[in-house]
Amino acid sequence: MEDCIFCKIIRNEIPSTTIYEDDYVKVFLDISQVTPGHTLLVPKVHVPDIFAYDETLAAQVFSRVPKIAKAIKASDPNIVAMNIANNNGELAYQSVFHSHIHFVPRYSKKDDFW
Ligand code: 5GP
Ligand code: ZN
Repeated sequence: MEDCIFCKIIRNEIPSTTIYEDDYVKVFLDISQVTPGHTLLVPKVHVPDIFAYDETLAAQVFSRVPKIAKAIKASDPNIVAMNIANNNGELAYQSVFHSHIHFVPRYSKKDDFW
């Protein structure tokens, strides 16, 4: 998709802090960190939301979730918990219409985010 911000990140046309990449997904820090380490997992193919997934794509994307969660957790001993979220549609607070999964690390100190 020509104008999609995440497609541009996937094509390295705009910079991102990428922490993992393979044939099917790219994983990079969210530009607006809900908590430190807030990360996005995106399929490399442009799909707007979960409703456009087939089973193959679902396996390619969701099979990466535990590996990414563990890697983020391992990056900082102060991470004690994590929200993993996927918004679909404007009413569900989706703002970028290239499907993505949020990883929001939680730290030992209680916070008010999300
Ligand atoms: P949504 O609201 O669609 O679930 O989440 C979209 C996320 O994409 C937001 O958390 C927002 O901060 C992030 N985002 C938007 N534009 C960019 C960008 O250009 N680079 C990165 N790394 N994240 C972005
Ligand atoms: Zn896209």
